[in-house]
Amino acid sequence: MSNVRILVIVEYAEQQLKTSTVSTIEAARQLKEHIGGAIDIVALVSGKNTDTITKAVAALPDISHVIQADHPALQDNLAEPLAAVVCSICTAEAYQAILAPATTFGKNILPRIAAMLDVAQISDVIKIMDAKTFVRPTYAGNIVTTVRSLDTIQVITVRSTHFTKNIDTKSREKFAEIVAWPTDKLPNFSHLPVASFIERKETKTERPDLATASIVVAGGRGLGSPEQFSALMTALADKLGAAIGASRAAVDAGFAPNDAQVGQTGKVVAPKLYIAVGISGAIQHLAGMKDSKVVVAINKDPSAPIFQVSNYGLVGDLFEILPNFLNKLEQFSKK
Ligand code: FAD
Repeated sequence: MSNVRILVIVEYAEQQLKTSTVSTIEAARQLKEHIGGAIDIVALVSGKNTDTITKAVAALPDISHVIQADHPALQDNLAEPLAAVVCSICTAEAYQAILAPATTFGKNILPRIAAMLDVAQISDVIKIMDAKTFVRPTYAGNIVTTVRSLDTIQVITVRSTHFTKNIDTKSREKFAEIVAWPTDKLPNFSHLPVASFIERKETKTERPDLATASIVVAGGRGLGSPEQFSALMTALADKLGAAIGASRAAVDAGFAPNDAQVGQTGKVVAPKLYIAVGISGAIQHLAGMKDSKVVVAINKDPSAPIFQVSNYGLVGDLFEILPNFLNKLEQFSKK
């Protein structure tokens, strides 16, 4: 390995790499170009029974080494043991930066690592200007800030939608080298009041993943009831092969599950097409979808703020517009 390294913390679930990991590696590649010189991008796979995922990471371009930290205590990737692993890696060797996706996974771990290393975290990076200068949104995306880190090591979460890349795993002739992390280095947590894993409840769906779907249809309070939300939004999503999102008001009213929320305190999406139905377009909602390529809004209020970020706006009653639209899609699909 070279003397200077960038560490990427790998996010995965059920033996599948998350696309957020691919984006984080792309951000690491851009950072490496800015730093210049001989720099290795090292990926950390932590967990239990990690052979499959480690091999999948070793096949990705731009990675020079994969550190495999396989230990029962890392099984659920709780912040405490994972942060301890990362800190032991980064204090033993020279790392210039630690990157993780700005997902719940990354947001759970990186602040702890930053605190343990006594450096500032740079959150939700959307652009890398140079080796130590980064662009990130603040105030729900109302302000875009350029920040320069004065720390010796940068701890960075990456907004995945800004570092998308199609990966060609066949482009590698030789896979990255896999290095086993000496798990006897893992601190003993039994004497500490740390969190323990109880249960994971994940929504299983046949639909595309909301965070990475190329089409998202999102419903708001205007849909009026859980039944109407389900009937109309499901029909629309089925026709378009889309993921279903929701405003916070729709989630709070029980129209849609929590993990469907788009916005400042929900998911950040940037699909090719975003259809907002009965959503007013509050600033906190826009923070999660305004980078969508094409936005279509259906709202009966012509002054609704959602129209300010829409490419196409349909002013009218969604209960008339949507069934008509679904009929048209039906006719179109039969042609
Ligand atoms: P409303 O604002 O009530 O809008 C409903 C819209 O439906 C209206 O524009 C109305 O004209 C239209 N409508 C009603 N009936 C019809 C009809 N029949 N046909 C057509 N149109 C119709 N919100 C988020 O979405 N995501 C977040 O992550 C988020 N985070 C927040 C964080 C904080 C700290 C705070 C304070 C707020 C947050 N919010 C968030 C809430 C946000 O401020 C809004 O309250 C919320 O987005 C409103 O949701 P809505 O547009 O569905 O509802």
